[in-house]
Amino acid sequence: MSTIRIAIDGPSGAGKSTLAREAAAALGFLYVDTGAIYRSIGLYMHENSIDPSDERAVAAVLPALQVELRYDDSGRQRMFLNSRDVSEEIRLPEISRYASSVSALPAVRSYLLEFQRELARKNNVIMDGRDIGTVVLPDAEVKIFLSASAEVRAERRCRELEERGTPQSFQDVFHDIKERDWRDTHRDAAPLRQAEDAMLLDTSALDFQESREALLKIIRERTGL
Ligand code: C5P
Repeated sequence: MSTIRIAIDGPSGAGKSTLAREAAAALGFLYVDTGAIYRSIGLYMHENSIDPSDERAVAAVLPALQVELRYDDSGRQRMFLNSRDVSEEIRLPEISRYASSVSALPAVRSYLLEFQRELARKNNVIMDGRDIGTVVLPDAEVKIFLSASAEVRAERRCRELEERGTPQSFQDVFHDIKERDWRDTHRDAAPLRQAEDAMLLDTSALDFQESREALLKIIRERTGL
């Protein structure tokens, strides 16, 4: 039996992870946060003092990396890197920059492609990232491009960092978001863009509950679930 695949792409801080996780829980689907995979690879480069933009150096260590997705009792995705739970560390701002650098490397992207597709072959998935609807699952049943203005995304990220006990100024976060947007949309390898057949959901003016409902409405209309 074939699986149902829901692709959610969009820029950083658009609320993809939280919304996609909620929607997956409501539908009983597996939630796959692909950004966490790139972050784990970025973390490895950071810990091993490898320049994340040096494609040869990064490609050379990829076979030594064992990346695993596990799920806790409440269905939360946990990331394991060489059997170590790195779910918290990968969220540090420093690692965001490493993730963004390694994710621009074709060697890294092609290394992860089959891994991601395999998850979608075995499970009904909601997969979020930057290139899910365009590259990873181009024939996904539902494609959504989730976005919000850079200001709104920076405000949300600031709140999140504060709650995590690692606060940062709005200016720094805003600058970081703009820089990552630029890098994600201008790279040669699988740049961030809305797939032609993706539905745009802009959450700038919506609160969390409204965004969640809007997302589920699109999915239900498209899949008949
Ligand atoms: O979504 P998140 O911010 O956790 O992603 C971390 C980084 O990984 C992003 O800056 C983005 O460049 C990259 N990424 C990607 N393709 C994906 C998911 C994430 O290039 N499918």
